[in-house]
Amino acid sequence: MNRFENKTVLVTGAGSGIGAASVRRLFDEGASIVAADIHKENVDKVVREFGGSARIYATEVDISDRDQVAAFVSDAVHRFGNLYGLVNCAGIRGVGNVLDLDPESWRKVLSVNLDGTFNVCQAFARALKNAQVPGAIVNLSSAAGIRGVPNRLAYAASKYGIVGISQTMALELGPLGVRVNAIAPGMIRTPMTEVMFENPDNAQRIRSAHPVGREGQPEEVAAAVAFLLSEDASFITGIVLPVDGGKTAGIASH
Ligand code: NAP
Repeated sequence: MNRFENKTVLVTGAGSGIGAASVRRLFDEGASIVAADIHKENVDKVVREFGGSARIYATEVDISDRDQVAAFVSDAVHRFGNLYGLVNCAGIRGVGNVLDLDPESWRKVLSVNLDGTFNVCQAFARALKNAQVPGAIVNLSSAAGIRGVPNRLAYAASKYGIVGISQTMALELGPLGVRVNAIAPGMIRTPMTEVMFENPDNAQRIRSAHPVGREGQPEEVAAAVAFLLSEDASFITGIVLPVDGGKTAGIASH
């Protein structure tokens, strides 16, 4: 499949996990890619896999910094011309419940996951509007963005927020030809979640929380990213697609 030939896609969080898998999938399908992460060395390593191709470059951006985000998007336009797609994978975990969470931790998670996603979406949408070209955005929410998860208060707030802004942007940007969707993964094996598999009992508990009996792989989320970004999803906007092995399909049996 060459669904992204002559299309430029920006991917944040591209140095790791779901972002890196999305870069590989979209590159294989012909996209030109701007791969961005807060860790330049990690995203450099991912981009080196493509042997110096002119269709991809690595860049450093902290999505919570609006000046850096503005430079990231305008450099991408400068290098590749019109943009088409945006995949927002940059994000951080956060633990803590309503009784013990300190305001600094709350603010940190919200400033990266929610403010950061807004910052990049806004700069990207403005670039598309200026150029009067259509496009598509895929934002990474979470199962914790459609169901409550104990001890993940700030993370859940940020991921529910991503659903809210994605659906609202779908309404606002639809008339401009820009589709906006969110993906809500269950537990995916990435550097973000590796720590949760260290204890075998915990790993087993995670697996049995998914009806398919296992955690997911980043490539399984990247396949959904590519679908929603592509013309195959041309009449799909404003949805939240669970990619979670059935985790959020219903309540646990009793
Ligand atoms: P990951 O492996 O940690 O990759 C995320 C990347 O984004 C990391 O390189 C991270 O750096 C980077 N990043 C953090 N803060 C940033 C910032 N301010 N600006 C730019 N980049 C930043 O995570 P993942 O598991 O692939 O998750 C990708 C997305 O999917 C996240 O939004 C996550 O919340 C969501 N998600 C993941 C799962 C899962 O089970 N893995 C489930 C549901 C939703 P650091 O390593 O320094 O943080």
